[in-house]
Amino acid sequence: MDSCLQRLGLSALNGGAFDGAWSGNGDVVESISPINGQVIARVKQADAGDCERGIARAQEAFLKWRVTPAPVRGETVRRLGNAFRVHKADLGRLVTLEMGKILAEGEGEVQEMIDICDFAVGLSRQLHGLTIASERPNHRLMEQWHPLGIIGVITAFNFPVAVWSWNAALAAVCGDSVIWKPSSHTPLCAIAVTRIAEQVCRETGVDPAIFTLLCGSVEDVGSRMVEDRRLPLISATGSCAMGHKLAQQVHARLGRTLLELGGNNAVIVTPSADLELAVRAIFFGAVGTAGQRCTSTRRVIVHESVADALRERLVRAYHDLRIGDPLDPATLMGPLINRQAVATMIHAIRRLKREGGTVLSGGKILHSDIATVLAIEHLADEGGPFLPEDDELLREDAFPGGCYVTPCLASVTAGLSVVREETFAPILYLMKYRDFNEALAMHNDVPQGLSSAIFTNDFREAELFLSAVGSDCGIANVNAGTSGAEIGGAFGGEKDTGGGRESGSDAWKNYMRRQTNTINYGKDMPLAQGIHFGE
Ligand code: NAD
Repeated sequence: MDSCLQRLGLSALNGGAFDGAWSGNGDVVESISPINGQVIARVKQADAGDCERGIARAQEAFLKWRVTPAPVRGETVRRLGNAFRVHKADLGRLVTLEMGKILAEGEGEVQEMIDICDFAVGLSRQLHGLTIASERPNHRLMEQWHPLGIIGVITAFNFPVAVWSWNAALAAVCGDSVIWKPSSHTPLCAIAVTRIAEQVCRETGVDPAIFTLLCGSVEDVGSRMVEDRRLPLISATGSCAMGHKLAQQVHARLGRTLLELGGNNAVIVTPSADLELAVRAIFFGAVGTAGQRCTSTRRVIVHESVADALRERLVRAYHDLRIGDPLDPATLMGPLINRQAVATMIHAIRRLKREGGTVLSGGKILHSDIATVLAIEHLADEGGPFLPEDDELLREDAFPGGCYVTPCLASVTAGLSVVREETFAPILYLMKYRDFNEALAMHNDVPQGLSSAIFTNDFREAELFLSAVGSDCGIANVNAGTSGAEIGGAFGGEKDTGGGRESGSDAWKNYMRRQTNTINYGKDMPLAQGIHFGE
């Protein structure tokens, strides 16, 4: 067992349910590292009884926490941020082991946790409402923000620790308790984080059930949280398909959702662009985290006058990319999360070829043992076993486990159906444009609306891109790539990305309930709109 697990309080078999005490009475599952296909440790998941207890305990904790002054709540979050500083290297390494992103990105994810805690501490002395001019004499009109209740936080595998913190740090200073259902691919990260949060709560005399954890399947845990009226807000991060289903269930009980779903993020490269900058941003955006970020760059819309130059530079960068063990500091791209993800990527590449696209670079499975690749059993969307062709395989000794690929760079024409979908893997589609308005239309012609970027030195193009007729995404950047947001801004996207906003700016308002107050300090009872009633 890797020593970072011990330092984080993990063992070979871990309780996956925490409600102030550790348990887990459901099935035992293995956490498998995508680095080599080996079991890291096992987890006892939550069963129905654990869920019920977890929700009841989170409610009990909320009733105490909501009356704790917000700056005092902030003190617990300040200590939480400091605890993440202490454990940054170990937690970052565990993210790499369990999820497969490179060490620099694993530690970067923990840094995001620290940053959002710092942000939330400052916020804990604000959480302010407005005072509004009243139309009635001797009246005051104002609004207050009150704690909301238990926040259900459902997270994806690709940011196994940071997304919880975006929600939990804000929810905590807002006076809420949190129940976390992590991805079933990354339960150890969730247990390690919750252990740290538990320790901090005990040190500050806070009920640790404000940070409840329920590891388990969609059926056993996810659906129970989604349908439970004691959870007024479900904050869910994951695929668009998940969001469509979950939103219907939560809205059927008139609960609130905060949805952070899939992206299909594009970069427009115009004739005046600094190509050096553009290539660096596109390259990181497309192959960073092995193309498994919601903000990964998936499409490049390049003016025909610079298309050849950009393509040549990108092909060179793809050729020189260091793929391999993400624990090796020299590696820039690690494995995909599992073999299913590899099969999904290869199917998308087959589709793009059928639809008339051309592969310029990569798109192959790197493996040291064909048996691991053939062990990919079944893909629901294809309805059959996955059988790789010879020209889809590259045999090399350094790639155990069947989860490594070479990232794919492809040239396509606009409008291919495969380009309109988010394939959660490193596939980058290059397409050309002639006229700037055409580029904008191509840019917006996908169902998702998360992140976007333009590389230009023409201020009219830049401003148009940011204007009401420009990018339709929640994030729009100029001369900076689609990937790598800072926590200070609100994060999220439009259309099928779900409309939610997390992290900075005023995203905290999601975790509170707004109350409008009218106070009459006069001796009359004037009605609004000048209505006279029975006088
Ligand atoms: P996923 O949709 O398969 O699962 C996400 C989470 O939702 C998991 O915890 C899963 O168990 C749970 N879930 C799925 N169906 C559910 C249901 N019906 N009820 C309750 N819970 C349910 O996604 P994934 O493969 O883990 O992650 C990749 C996806 O997440 C990509 O589409 C990516 O773009 C997206 N993502 C979005 C953001 C963002 O901020 N917009 C951030 C990270 C990832």
